[in-house]
Amino acid sequence: MSLNIGQLRKDFPILARKVNGKRLVYFDNAATTQKPVQVIERIKHYYTEENSNVHRGVHHLSQLATDKYEHARQFVASYIHAGSAKEIIFTRGTTESVNVVASLFQHLIGAGDEVLITAMEHHSNLVPWQQLCRQQQAVLKVVPINEKGELDMTALKNMITSKTRMFALAHVSNVLGTINPVGEAVKLARKKNIPVLVDGAQAVAHLPVDVTGLDCDFYAFSAHKAYGPMGIGVLYGKEEWLKKLPPYQFGGEMVDQVSFSETTFNNLPYKFEAGTPNVSGVLGMEAALKYIEEKGIGNVRDHEDELLDFATRKLSKTEGIKIIGEAREKTAVLSFVVNGVHPYDLGTLLDQMGVAVRTGYHCAQPVVESFGLTGTVRASFGIYNTLEEVDVFVDALKKSIALLK
Ligand code: PMP
Repeated sequence: MSLNIGQLRKDFPILARKVNGKRLVYFDNAATTQKPVQVIERIKHYYTEENSNVHRGVHHLSQLATDKYEHARQFVASYIHAGSAKEIIFTRGTTESVNVVASLFQHLIGAGDEVLITAMEHHSNLVPWQQLCRQQQAVLKVVPINEKGELDMTALKNMITSKTRMFALAHVSNVLGTINPVGEAVKLARKKNIPVLVDGAQAVAHLPVDVTGLDCDFYAFSAHKAYGPMGIGVLYGKEEWLKKLPPYQFGGEMVDQVSFSETTFNNLPYKFEAGTPNVSGVLGMEAALKYIEEKGIGNVRDHEDELLDFATRKLSKTEGIKIIGEAREKTAVLSFVVNGVHPYDLGTLLDQMGVAVRTGYHCAQPVVESFGLTGTVRASFGIYNTLEEVDVFVDALKKSIALLK
């Protein structure tokens, strides 16, 4: 079955609006995706019919909200093939998920120890490790990439040592679109018993994610990049790790018995969820993942590959354009620069023609600079984008280049 994009677009009300008098072409999906009515309505339904605090009340609404919330946790667990719902911690998103793990690992990383990341990390999976290393007098090591934007697996093999305490890498690069061979990387790390954290921010909406198959220790993602609401995301952690690690924040929900002298902590996953959670966000995220599941992640992948191939071929034929990121395994992200034209100026002109792209460092300054650049233009695709939109984008791009040269 292939996707009926014309039909599916009707699920996304915002796509019908105009921007600067033009029909919106939204190619900034790597920053955040638009939301279907199924997600919008789910949140509305929660606040009109189900709102109450969870895990606390004996009354009907509290039990209803708790059931729905925990049901969503089960769904998320099965969506990413976690071993159990206990391994799903709800956070504000990828950034918070990485920060939780980095913060907890301060107990396990000391002077002279090493943390490995890759040269293509988003700041969210770089700065928390850098700051942790600084605080603990540990060493941050960066696995290099080649000129196509692929991870150097030989270097990785050599960089894993007896001092390595963590390897953190992106599943998909938000600048280059590279899909990293995470399963292979985990196997290398596993040989030396090194835990692996995967930043799945750019993967969940585009690829099947199987944390058990990948055998990673931690997996982080944000709902808003997968058609869900902002301010909610997931930290998957293997149960053995979550049992072993201490709580991250203290307060209500995460406790068992409390006296003025002592506190015992709640079971997993509640030990890591202090305070009232974002219930509507969790239910919106569940609706978003159900939406993807219903369409079929394989169909989504095929469709986005077609968009990426088509756009790549068109840009490759356009004079003066250089594509940044030419890995063999790529998804949904197309970064490029134009000879003699500033990415910001291009982005501004494209916006005037109704085309939304992202320009600059994309919160991953080191990888952009490693290509000798101060920014790229990034077109990133989602389930609702069409080949016709790619045509509109390329025409607008050519017009913009002509105006700017
Ligand atoms: N990692 C990657 C690869 C990303 O693309 C992003 C978002 N641009 C993040 C982490 C951070 O996600 P969030 O802002 O939702 O926490």
